[in-house]
Amino acid sequence: MESFWWVLFSLLAGLCIGSFLNVAIHRLPAGQSIVDPPRSACPHCGEPLAARDNIPVVSFLWLRAHCRHCHAPISWRYPVVELTGGAMAVGCLLRFGPGGPAVVAFALMAVLLAVSCIDIDHRIIPDRVILPAAALLYPAAAVLTPLSWRQGLVGAFTGAGILYLVAAGYRLLTRREGMGMGDVKLMVLIGAVIGWQGAVFTLFAAAFYGTLAGLLAMVRSGRGLKTAIPFGPFLSLGAATYLLADPELILRYQQGLILGIAG
Ligand SMILES: [Zn+2]
Repeated sequence: MESFWWVLFSLLAGLCIGSFLNVAIHRLPAGQSIVDPPRSACPHCGEPLAARDNIPVVSFLWLRAHCRHCHAPISWRYPVVELTGGAMAVGCLLRFGPGGPAVVAFALMAVLLAVSCIDIDHRIIPDRVILPAAALLYPAAAVLTPLSWRQGLVGAFTGAGILYLVAAGYRLLTRREGMGMGDVKLMVLIGAVIGWQGAVFTLFAAAFYGTLAGLLAMVRSGRGLKTAIPFGPFLSLGAATYLLADPELILRYQQGLILGIAG
């Protein structure tokens, strides 16, 4: 068990990074800088937030989910993203212990969280996020985690290649656009950081989560599923599962997969 202080530090750092991710989610798709202006503003009235109104989760509760100035409601997604950041940081600490692998895993998950929210809002996975993240995290994984440069490269090609073939096959069979190239680029990033085993696991887990969500949506609407749901969040969830799950479980899943294919 990691010491109390490490857990507390991770939680606070995760909450603050979650708060920063909210800014990135809000500003990046609009083509705005994420550092300028440095202070966040109320999206409704544009009034810059004082420091006391910008404390992760606490301010949201204190202000009862309303802007101090214009009293417009504040989206519940802000505290959810902050809390998810905190939970991811603690999760990475408990899974890897303090050190390089925990930092790389958390950094990837933070990027995936932002990408997922942007994909849900705008149905895009921006190159402005994916390309710098891959340029930074591929070498970081090779230096700070047991993954080698070569394994990262193989992972990037495997994940993206499989997804590209699936997307091309779907297009050929149905003459409809299923997945965008954004999802393929997302798999380049994921594979480069967690390798080919991770990429394959991510694709299977994403298909599982996506099917589950599709069935739930169908049951709730009482109709067939016609609207395309963004796939980025499911890929992200799959990669997060791979990073945080018990390695024994993943090993057994992979053995089951190989036996399933062989048998
Ligand atoms: Zn306001």
